[in-house]
Amino acid sequence: MSDRIYFDNSATTPLDPRVTKAMEPYFAGIFGNPSSLHWAGREARAAIDQARQQVADLFNAHPKEIIFTASGTESDNLALIGVIEGLGQRENHLITSAIEHPAILETTRYLERQGVEVTYLDVDGDGLVDPNDLQKALRPTTRLVSIMAANNVVGTLQPITELARITHEHGALFHTDAVQAVGKIPLNVKTQPIDLLSLSAHKLHGPKGVGALYVRSGVSIKPLVHGGGQERGLRSATENVAGLVGLGQTAEIARAEMSDEASRLVQLRDQLIETITTILPNTYLIGHRYRRLPGHVCLGLAGQEGEAIKLLLALDEAGIAISTGSACSAHQGSEPSYILRAMGFDLIRARGSLRITLGRFNTAAEVDRFLIVLPQIAADLRPITSRHFVAA
Ligand code: PLP
Repeated sequence: MSDRIYFDNSATTPLDPRVTKAMEPYFAGIFGNPSSLHWAGREARAAIDQARQQVADLFNAHPKEIIFTASGTESDNLALIGVIEGLGQRENHLITSAIEHPAILETTRYLERQGVEVTYLDVDGDGLVDPNDLQKALRPTTRLVSIMAANNVVGTLQPITELARITHEHGALFHTDAVQAVGKIPLNVKTQPIDLLSLSAHKLHGPKGVGALYVRSGVSIKPLVHGGGQERGLRSATENVAGLVGLGQTAEIARAEMSDEASRLVQLRDQLIETITTILPNTYLIGHRYRRLPGHVCLGLAGQEGEAIKLLLALDEAGIAISTGSACSAHQGSEPSYILRAMGFDLIRARGSLRITLGRFNTAAEVDRFLIVLPQIAADLRPITSRHFVAA
């Protein structure tokens, strides 16, 4: 067993060896361009067709409803900009939440500059959107509502079925950024009125730079990338065949193993939450206690400005990778998290969070070891950083 522990699976995940194996032939022997009519092209085309089916099967979609992209970010951009541009209306109103990933929030800001009106719904202290708030925010010009299925920092799961139902009753479209949720919680576009759904392979033990957007049949969108007409003209570019094979394999494994994996991770997650908040009394859980991603722990350090980053660095020295928030905001240093601010945290508390996220390859032994090392490291930090930090 390696000494190093990787507990940052919401940032990205290690490739599943079964995914690597499925991709290998497409780096070597199978090289054709899927648009070519000859044998080499047909081989590549068949691989993509299979991947599309595998992705569709994960949430009960039709393969024709899957558009491959190069990331979750691109899928989010395509969903929002593609829908608004596809409508061709003069006045457009879009509703999202204040705690979305920047892939949504920077896109809505772009759309605002194009004249689209955007409402950012508040969340409660657990990070939940209130369906009544959505109901009240709807306007005659509301065309699209985009609410994430699971939050990347705090792990809270939104009531997307209810939010989508309210949106549909109003006659608008519902998009969900399900990048953190796909393959971890059951999603089914036949029973949930979701019109568009974004996903990304690298959050699910698949390759980086590969994503997809589900677009319900009948929903029209405009492309962002123009060119040779691949992906039914909605996303031109010669396909990343190996990457898509990896995404397909990732989806197939998730479909078969999601339920068992989620039960295992929920147990480890709850062990972490209960043990840490008991042995380190100044820590508290952030996000909803039960409506949260299976392997996701987000902890606050009460009144300890700067403590989170010190703890992260000390754990890193011990070979343990965790996060203080989303990887995407790492470059902002100790800036308060806008997600925690939206959840009502003051400026100091919004700086002091730790994110521990488990994945397929984490073991109970790693959790046990972490629970021994963490209080030791926290105690070592105590004299330097805070006299309140009591490790039992
Ligand atoms: N949406 C959410 C909720 C995410 O957590 C992420 C990645 O952290 C993204 C979108 C962006 O996905 P990608 O890294 O594939 O661009």
